[in-house]
Amino acid sequence: MAQPGRLGASSPAQNGAVSAAGTPYSNGPVQNTLMHSQVSVSQGYSSPFPESYPHQIPAKTPLNPASGPYNYGDSQTVSSLNSYQGPGQTLSRLPLEPNPVTPLQNTIPLSRMPPPPSSQTPAALPASSDSFLYGPNPSLSSNWQYGHPQVGSKTNHFVPVSTQPSLSGNTNLSRNNQYASLGTPSLQNNYVKTGDMSTASNGSVVENSYDAIEGGGFMASSQLTNQNPKMSRNVGYSYPSLPPGYQNTSPPNMSERPSTALQYTSGLQPFSQSPLGANHLTTRMGGLSLHSEGLRVINLLQERNMLPTASLKAPVPNLHEDIQKLNCNPELFRCTLTNIPQTQTLLNKAKLPLGLLLHPFKDLLQLPVVTSNTIVRCRSCRTYINPFVSFLDQRRWKCNLCYRVNDVPEEFMYNPITRVYGDPLRRPEVQNATIEFMAPSEYMLRPPQPPVYLFVFDVSHNAVETGYLNSVCQSLLDNLDSLPGNTRTKIGFITFDSTIHFYSLQEGLSQPQMLIVSDIEDVFIPMPENLLVNLNENKELIQDLLKTLPQMFTKSLETHSALGPALQSAYKLMSPTGGRISVFQTQLPSVGVGALKSRDEPNQRSSAKEIHLTPSTDFYKKLALDCSGQQVAVDLFLLSGQYSDLASLGCISRYSAGSVYYYPSYHHQHNPVQVEKLQKELKRYLTRKIGFEAVMRIRCTKGLSIHTFHGNFFVRSTDLLSLPNVNPDAGYAVQMSVEENLTDIQVVSFQSALLYTSSKGERRIRVHTMCLPVVSTLNEVYLGADVQAITGLLANMAVDRSISASLSDARDALVNAVIDSLSAYRTSVLNSQQPGLLVPFSLRLFPLFVLALLKQKSFQTGTTAHLDERIFAMCQVKNQPLVYLMLMTHPNLYRVDNLSDEGALNINDKTIPQPSILQLSVEKLSRDGAFLMDAGTVMMLWVGKNCGQNFLSQVLGVPNYASLPLCMTYLPDLDTAESARIGSFISWLREHRPFFPVLYIIRDESPLKATFLQYMVEDRTESALSYYEFLLHVQQQVNK
Ligand SMILES: [Zn+2]
Repeated sequence: MAQPGRLGASSPAQNGAVSAAGTPYSNGPVQNTLMHSQVSVSQGYSSPFPESYPHQIPAKTPLNPASGPYNYGDSQTVSSLNSYQGPGQTLSRLPLEPNPVTPLQNTIPLSRMPPPPSSQTPAALPASSDSFLYGPNPSLSSNWQYGHPQVGSKTNHFVPVSTQPSLSGNTNLSRNNQYASLGTPSLQNNYVKTGDMSTASNGSVVENSYDAIEGGGFMASSQLTNQNPKMSRNVGYSYPSLPPGYQNTSPPNMSERPSTALQYTSGLQPFSQSPLGANHLTTRMGGLSLHSEGLRVINLLQERNMLPTASLKAPVPNLHEDIQKLNCNPELFRCTLTNIPQTQTLLNKAKLPLGLLLHPFKDLLQLPVVTSNTIVRCRSCRTYINPFVSFLDQRRWKCNLCYRVNDVPEEFMYNPITRVYGDPLRRPEVQNATIEFMAPSEYMLRPPQPPVYLFVFDVSHNAVETGYLNSVCQSLLDNLDSLPGNTRTKIGFITFDSTIHFYSLQEGLSQPQMLIVSDIEDVFIPMPENLLVNLNENKELIQDLLKTLPQMFTKSLETHSALGPALQSAYKLMSPTGGRISVFQTQLPSVGVGALKSRDEPNQRSSAKEIHLTPSTDFYKKLALDCSGQQVAVDLFLLSGQYSDLASLGCISRYSAGSVYYYPSYHHQHNPVQVEKLQKELKRYLTRKIGFEAVMRIRCTKGLSIHTFHGNFFVRSTDLLSLPNVNPDAGYAVQMSVEENLTDIQVVSFQSALLYTSSKGERRIRVHTMCLPVVSTLNEVYLGADVQAITGLLANMAVDRSISASLSDARDALVNAVIDSLSAYRTSVLNSQQPGLLVPFSLRLFPLFVLALLKQKSFQTGTTAHLDERIFAMCQVKNQPLVYLMLMTHPNLYRVDNLSDEGALNINDKTIPQPSILQLSVEKLSRDGAFLMDAGTVMMLWVGKNCGQNFLSQVLGVPNYASLPLCMTYLPDLDTAESARIGSFISWLREHRPFFPVLYIIRDESPLKATFLQYMVEDRTESALSYYEFLLHVQQQVNK
């Protein structure tokens, strides 16, 4: 085995030689000339390093302490608001404590790239690994800090001014800690008094009614009690004695109940009468031995084929099976570490980020819905009762988040499903980690709003040229009856160029009436009562308008775009009800408020520095916050061939909980692929489920603390996410830290609660609860690492870092995340001087996924990707559920010319083949095959020169390779078994995706081949390392 030093990046020319000379790296420099033809992608490890290499991979650099442990500004930093005096709605309600940290401080790239590696001797780098691993002072560590921000250096939270002071017993003054006291019995008694405390402080609370409704932390719950005495009935702390017939019922046989599984206990609690303790632990150890594969230590330089051939599954938390079978589906809720470290010190040692990834409103086939007057929640922390609480007896349950003992309300004794009385453990709330409640009136601030949809169309000359209006109006006509809603649904339309046009759809009109407002400096709404109208009652007028709109502006020569004023009018129109604004824009806004100037400089595109990722104006963000305050979300459809400053425009969606769609170079004739994409995505967009006036809160077991949120929303009050709209395609992430030691606790729980108004006007609460074990050793922390979740969270953090500091800073931090964690593993767990790059089995794909992130559109360098495309990729990172984020980062590659039914799925009588997933390297391709690359939002089918005749004729419908067009964008629908097979496979992949993946069928000579090869993460490109080179770099840093 070669010495680490010899494999270093400074001796690149040797790499290939070393491999060839007999390292066990079997897949080494296999030359595959297949793809070499015109494209400058080579995968040979023996070729010389690209000149740009020194700039691509940073060496480890200590963070400049001055930048603090938290120098990636979070998306939700709202400091600019403090000086903002808006027109009075949102902001006057917000708690206005100044945010102590302004993100602008962070835009100074304090931790600059080190000198190029070529000039770096090991001595020039931080020598002592200790400073990366054990430093009690986090600021000594590397670029990426996972710890909790220091008090006083807060991130994004609006802090209600009064939540702090009276929390006696809570010494750390964490603003996120929802619990007032420790879980000891004596302190629990204090809870009884907390209601009084809050009464005292109520007067100074900045009113936040939604906070009160969802009932957040301890403050909110007490507000709730104060404001709404009726709630006390529902939390049921006192109930009449049991009905006579039940009084003498003997307790159910414990052995028959699942309760034993639920009664794992914390060391702090006084009621541990039914100890799971020892049993529980043994099972856990047993669990470990069951997964011996998971205990393997892998030398990545020797074992290359680490990518599983089927989709990578989330690790299964190491819990007793009775608990685990009740746990939340990882598609909805997962954690970066499925073994939670019991202290922050342990977490710091692991150098892995701790956080949650959520897909809370995902479409579900099965969702238990509970209609009950009694929604049972913890009286202290407002946690919803869930499968992981413990029942001390039939009448008392103990909260798994704050350990308070609560009474079981009388109503809860009756199980509406089994119609049996006296077995609360069989209630659906205690049997399902995911559940939805029909919320009683206590959960409403006002009557549930009707669904209101407002469409805002750019009709400038440029917009008309693209021909998009036809497509969109047709889609709307087709899907008008499928818009989620009921008899109350309202709809309206605004168009704009340099002026703003409203459409009166008043009942009785024979045709829609257009009203033009040309004063864009001070927009007003003419006849507001007739602009948003009931869909059912005015359907004909609406259809009439949609049919005529595309023709109305065909002669327009107006090139200006007054997007800002148009959005202002839309906001005014929607304010009384709330709802959804869908805005279609085709260029850079040029007049009125919010006008923007081009900042795209093509010659800087490839550089990692000095690119404009930050908004050039805060107009869109401020307007978004106004919208958020009125329960209005704005979805942006950008259809533009030219730079449109998505970094600025995107803020309108980001902070109002909207979505961004992007169709570069949309043209109704020249770009049929985009036309299909828009049409398919609009159908999904218009018909998917929607929730209105929503708020979401994530709670976790006392001792853990959530400190940073990622996604599209606005953080109202401390930890309440304001989501004027919520949709099934939105993902969220949060970062956490361990604030108080979890010693003596065996498990912790996380619960997200999403309160929303359905399109049918029902107030509902969707609750997900996840339970995870706590561990005390570093090795266990590594064993439980969820590499996909870690990658997803790091991607979110890297977007923030790109914006607050710089792209190169973010790239450094990503690389350091790998180096730091693997160094820590080597030093603290293995204690080994063995050569190679040793990783725990759970992290075997970590370097690969981070390399994939570096090559992903958001973070790549050395490309000519348009700035807006990069920004859009970043929007997707922030807003997509993990599964899609992973696909766009590390696509799935399949060989599809020989699909068989072996191992196929059978869904609704359709056979769906399941080909193996291949590594992303050209050496996996062969000329006699056809390969499908699924990158989430795009699919590419590459057909090799010698591809079998059968595939060409039976699937592609061409007689031979030569007749294959350079680029096809659809599969012909042929009446052959082969065609049906691949057709059903592709449809299955496309199903339920928020973005419609267009399909390109390409041959070797196609111009798109370069794009195809860019997804080959393991190969070298002009500007990025191959996987093997990256491993060598990591190894060099780790083994120092
Ligand atoms: Zn509680």
